[in-house]
Amino acid sequence: MPESVYLNGEWLAPEAAKVSVFDRGFLFADGIYEVVPVYQGQPFLLEHHLARLERSLAALAIESAGQQFWLELIDDLLARNQSDNALVYIQVTRGAEAKRSHLPQGPLAPTIFASVSAMPVHWDVPAPAQATLLEDIRWLRCDIKSISLLGNIMLKQQAQACGALEPILHRDGLITEGASSNYFAVKNGELYTAPTDHLILPGITRMWVIELARELGIPVHEQAFAVTDLAQLDELFLTSSSREVQPIGQIDDIIIGQGGCGKVTEQLVHAFHASKRQLSAQ
Ligand code: PMP
Repeated sequence: MPESVYLNGEWLAPEAAKVSVFDRGFLFADGIYEVVPVYQGQPFLLEHHLARLERSLAALAIESAGQQFWLELIDDLLARNQSDNALVYIQVTRGAEAKRSHLPQGPLAPTIFASVSAMPVHWDVPAPAQATLLEDIRWLRCDIKSISLLGNIMLKQQAQACGALEPILHRDGLITEGASSNYFAVKNGELYTAPTDHLILPGITRMWVIELARELGIPVHEQAFAVTDLAQLDELFLTSSSREVQPIGQIDDIIIGQGGCGKVTEQLVHAFHASKRQLSAQ
C-alpha cells in the first residue's frame, strides 16, 4: 500500500481517496491510464510513457494537464512514497457529472488519480511460462490505453482457468498481443511482432526491445505472426512494463523450441537488464 496517493489536487492516505459515483470513469469507463516502471527511483523511458498518455487523452478528447504537471506529479509521488523499484499508476477520467448521459452535458474537470506500488526488480532470466491461445474478443481501438478492460479481464480469467500465465490473442488468423503484454516470435534468429495499428497497445517495452534488438543486429519485422505458423516457432516471449521480457515455453499443447528460454530471448533479457541499470544510473 502506498502511504500517499494523489487525487484531484490532494495528497491523501489511500483509504481516504474517494471519487464520486457520478464519475464517468465509474459509470462508463470513460478514461485512460498509464503505468510507468521505476528503477532505483528513476522512471524508466518516461518520455515515451508520457507521450502515450498524451495520445490516449487526445483520442478521447480529454484535455491534458500538461507535460510539466505530469513530471512534477510523478516526482512528488515517488518522493512521498520513497519508492525505489515501483510501478507508477496514473488514471485520468473525463470527470463527474450528476446527470448520467452518454454524451457529457457540460465541460468537465477531469478526475486525476495517481498511485504507486512496489515492484520486485529482478536481474535473472525468468523461467519460461505457459500461455494459451484465445480469440481476441476486444474492441477495435486497442491502441488506446483505456480503463475499459473488460475484454482483457475475461481473457485473463480464461487463461488462468487453464493454468496459463497469459492469453496470446489472435484475430483473423494473426497473433495480435497478450491481454496485458506484447509478443515477439523468433524464427531463424529474426524477430516478428504485430505492427502498431489499432489492434494492439503500442507497448513501451515492445518499442524498447525493438531498439535493443537493432543494436544487437537482430532483424526485427513488425509483421504479425500467423497462428498456423506457431508450431514452427523457435522462441517466443512477451513484453510489458511489469514483466519486462518473459519467455514462453509452451502455448497450450505446442512446445516452443525446446520449451526453455531460447538464445535470442536470453540475449534480449540481458540487454534489457543492462539498459535498466544504465538508464536508472543517469
Ligand atoms: N498490451 C496490453 C494490452 C497491455 O495492457 C500492456 C501493458 N499494460 C502492454 C501491451 C505492454 O505495454 P507496456 O510495455 O507499455 O507496459
